[in-house]
Amino acid sequence: MKRAITLLATAVSCALISSVVIAKEARYPEFGNGRIEQNLVKASEYMVSSANPYASEAGMRIIEKGGSAIDAAIAVQLVLNLVEPESSGIGGGAFSLYWDNEKKALSSYDGREKAPMLADGKLFQENGKNMSWWEALAGGRAVGVPGVIAMMEKVHKQHGVLPWADLFEDAIKLSEEGFEVSPKLAASIANKTNPALGRYGDTWRYFFPDGKPLQAGVMKKNPEFAMTLRRISLLGAKGFYKGDIALSIVGAVRITAADNPGLLTTSDMANYQAIERPPVCAPYKAFKVCGMGPPTSGGMTVIQILKLLEDKDLAQYEPLSVEAAHLFAQAGKLAYADRAKYMADADFVDVPVEGLIDGDYLKERAKLIGDKDMGKATAGTPPNANTNWLESTSPEQPSTTHFSIVDKQGNAFSMTSSIEMAFGSTVMVRGFLLNNQLTDFSFSEASDGELIANRVQPGKRPRSSMSPFMVFDKDDNLVMAIGSPGGSRIINYVAKTMLGVMEWDMDIQQAISMPHYVNRNGGTDLEQGTKAAELKEGLEALGHKVSVRDLNSGLHGITIGKDGMEGGADPRRVGRALGK
Ligand code: GLU
Repeated sequence: MKRAITLLATAVSCALISSVVIAKEARYPEFGNGRIEQNLVKASEYMVSSANPYASEAGMRIIEKGGSAIDAAIAVQLVLNLVEPESSGIGGGAFSLYWDNEKKALSSYDGREKAPMLADGKLFQENGKNMSWWEALAGGRAVGVPGVIAMMEKVHKQHGVLPWADLFEDAIKLSEEGFEVSPKLAASIANKTNPALGRYGDTWRYFFPDGKPLQAGVMKKNPEFAMTLRRISLLGAKGFYKGDIALSIVGAVRITAADNPGLLTTSDMANYQAIERPPVCAPYKAFKVCGMGPPTSGGMTVIQILKLLEDKDLAQYEPLSVEAAHLFAQAGKLAYADRAKYMADADFVDVPVEGLIDGDYLKERAKLIGDKDMGKATAGTPPNANTNWLESTSPEQPSTTHFSIVDKQGNAFSMTSSIEMAFGSTVMVRGFLLNNQLTDFSFSEASDGELIANRVQPGKRPRSSMSPFMVFDKDDNLVMAIGSPGGSRIINYVAKTMLGVMEWDMDIQQAISMPHYVNRNGGTDLEQGTKAAELKEGLEALGHKVSVRDLNSGLHGITIGKDGMEGGADPRRVGRALGK
């Protein structure tokens, strides 16, 4: 963190420092232009930053009751399922990092959805042709075995303090007594973010009461979800993966969604396991940055972008300058080229994890970055790589959620959770939506006889972009927890926010609010309606193909320094950082 800056003052909301507990003002501020004002929040004991104030408050209550970061995380996730159903929930999957502050130990957990054992590389083909992404996503076909509940139970068994059932209380109460519909949820329904929403009866009745889209400000109840949560609170994960909830999920995938049925079975449900995996870490200047390994590409690709820029002395440029955006875009191109070729579920294909984040390899790759745009980057040859894979081009769309939590003991949890598309498969079971996460696989299994690493295989997990991250100082103290939704742009959002803090010395709110520039090995996207859009001409002069568009991140992060914690929440969503 090199220098204090004020230069972003025009581009980001002014950081108004306050010690906030639970806000007394209106639950949701104006969201008219899809942006709200967010202020830096300071705290000395603990902090929760999530995509919805109900969820952040639930997390705080758990910590006040003596709960740990993981206890709070479970309450946050369950409340998010209710109040932000378009983004995540128990019908989906997640990746998380857990920092044990006493043992100074970092663990990472994979709760990613799995393909049914009956699925194969032809899952998304009809009459020998790939289906369109829009045809594939709604219904049962793309529903993977949900992983959130198994992952939460696993982490809770290892690191939880409060009883499992206590963590369900807030979500059950809000489901029974009602919650205020957020402007973001209402807009996602009204704007038909997922055109298939309402295709199935239960979903239609829930999101279109009296035939009209659910309105912002309305108090909404979800008693079916309360019943689902009661069962899981009493029985644990087996209450979800076995018995009548599992049967309802399989029935919905195969029968309710008979127009586009899936292949899920009760034994797929019963056999699901969340997995603890080694985190992926690398040094970056005075820091150590750690993310999640395969099956997400997030950890490796964020690290690649950072390492490709490590010697470029980014701090010499203004954050919102043509030079900085150019360098960031070039690093993005190189990293996404490797991502497309090598990254997939390492339980099924050989992913050269160490090679992809190898310092010498990335130093060589960084030499490809010049003063002009490099055009389309091709994948490199990392040490120990099987280079026979073909690139995969599975598209990912914005929904998903991220939250970061630090508890009173300094333990931390950083979790990105998703049902894939907004409203997932649009199939609703017992008060929650099922994911369409299998559309993150490549729809083709091979091309010209060569196999694609991220093809569908039975029991495999689709490649993700989710990038929960933690950053440590040289003494192994946690200094930042961060992550974002945003489909495959997640990687850009997270890398850029980390650079904001590590290179440009921004506070976490400034780094989150900073207008976006993004490159995924194609054109450079600039965030519409912000100062970033003013970089268009300058980048075009360097050969970039530029589009100015909405870039809908949902970054929720916490930094820890000598003077305590600071929390930030994304102005592009309706969340809140809360702390004490
Ligand atoms: N399905 C995406 C992934 O796992 C996330 C979707 C999103 O962020 O909207 O990478």
